[in-house]
Amino acid sequence: MALTNTLPVIKKLNGYSNTKCLRCGDIENRDHVVKCTQTIEIQNKLEKTVFKEISKLATKPKIRADTLLFLKYIMDFLTNKQVGETTQNLIRFKELFRGYIVKDWFSKDETETKYSTLNEMFVLKCVMLYNKC
Ligand SMILES: [Zn+2]
Repeated sequence: MALTNTLPVIKKLNGYSNTKCLRCGDIENRDHVVKCTQTIEIQNKLEKTVFKEISKLATKPKIRADTLLFLKYIMDFLTNKQVGETTQNLIRFKELFRGYIVKDWFSKDETETKYSTLNEMFVLKCVMLYNKC
């Protein structure tokens, strides 16, 4: 079953006509699952874990700076702040939590490979976050 077919949780589980989040009572959609204010601890854990991974994986200063900026954009998305200029906006940030990430975060080069290891890490951590929410 696709993740999008599991929402809203209470409606699918119990056949209720309720579309509200079990955690906070807001309307539950795919954005809300990862943005719910009741999942802040999970979001903060993601940020810490990814930050550690970046320290290991992004050794070149420019790549590290790009990666830290991309992480900031992910956290901005999760906390409903304005997300800066990145090509991930073209496919929407919520798709990151389904495993879709652009190859080049700051331009449209579809052959770009400099972020490939980091992209694998981001996808893994973000899909894991979705599954924990
Ligand atoms: Zn909620």
